[in-house]
Amino acid sequence: MKIGCPKEIKPQEFRVGMTPNAAREAIAHGHEVIIETNAGSGSGFDDAAYTDAGAQIIATAAEVFATADMIVKVKEPQAGERKMLRENQLLFTYLHLAPDPDQTHDLLASGCTAIAYETVTDRNGGLPLLAPMSEVAGRLAPQVGAWTLQKANGGRGVLMGGVPGVSPAKVAVIGGGVVGTHAARVAAGMGADVTVLDRSLPRMRYLDDVFGSVFKTSYASAGNTAELVAEADMVIGAVLIPGAAAPKLVTRDQLSTMKPGAAIVDVAIDQGGCFETSHATTHQDPIYDVDGIMHYCVANMPGAVARTSTIALGNATMPFLLALADKGWKKACQDDPHLLAGLNVHAGQLTYEAVGVALGLDT
Ligand code: NAD
Repeated sequence: MKIGCPKEIKPQEFRVGMTPNAAREAIAHGHEVIIETNAGSGSGFDDAAYTDAGAQIIATAAEVFATADMIVKVKEPQAGERKMLRENQLLFTYLHLAPDPDQTHDLLASGCTAIAYETVTDRNGGLPLLAPMSEVAGRLAPQVGAWTLQKANGGRGVLMGGVPGVSPAKVAVIGGGVVGTHAARVAAGMGADVTVLDRSLPRMRYLDDVFGSVFKTSYASAGNTAELVAEADMVIGAVLIPGAAAPKLVTRDQLSTMKPGAAIVDVAIDQGGCFETSHATTHQDPIYDVDGIMHYCVANMPGAVARTSTIALGNATMPFLLALADKGWKKACQDDPHLLAGLNVHAGQLTYEAVGVALGLDT
């Protein structure tokens, strides 16, 4: 199979769909790999790294789309890219079709087969191609929160780990899933005094078993949440209710109970955020002040560490990419129901029920 990887064109997107290592493995499986020139530059992979891996560098995205059997990307295809998709071509990338009727119609019109990273499942009921980005955002959250806490950024001027004789920062993490666990681990590693709030007792038992006294857990009742938010130097929002907007767990009124200059990092902002005062920000202008509380609400946090994110995503997509290339999408999906769960569009037909329900289309 000929596998094509164009350069991402969505603004501020520095990741790339295939690493040189992914190209090398696909080529070892007998496939041909074509990469648009400079596709990997935002992630620190130059064209030579791909040619060393055996891939061919192509001058334009148009040539990649015109000749590849499978297109591997990161972000959903933009309008110009969608025009280049062809009947029987396989597209493997993040799609997020439910809120995007224009993209959905264009993919249906193209006749392509589209497998969405975000709906591929695993045997534990998880989402293996979303998890790496939650891991990245979770580990990044205390790092950006620590920066937000610095005095020059409007923060409280508190050092995460304190120093001998001075108490460390108090960090409350709301939601103990993938993001929350990684955030808590890193915050605790920086020396902070960390508590994770969740509504799932099994999840808190798991965290307690695995992490012991590294951080504390607390049931996320409204009362416990209010108390820990009021005491915290930093609050990290990491809740998810699958398929729904994030619940607003901290109101504007509650900000007046917080310490002046405390930092909020609302990782759940891509689902609307779990603080009433959150609105999405960008890496160019990441923080803002509401009532003396500094908010960091960047919706695509993994973009800040594009190289790590690209490699983490590539590790997760690799087995699926190889299965699709080796067997063809039909056999690969027949053999693996988790990959089949990723099938969103085929030959003009929508094949993912939740997208159909969201957009009022037949599946
Ligand atoms: P997850 O499903 O692994 O974890 C969510 C956790 O929230 C679960 O443990 C659940 O029990 C808990 N929860 C649900 N309702 C709660 C409540 N009312 N109070 C306390 N806990 C509650 O999800 P995840 O992968 O950790 O993702 C968390 C959020 O981070 C999602 O909104 C995701 O979209 C977002 N995210 C954002 C970025 C970014 O760049 N901003 C990147 C990755 C993920």
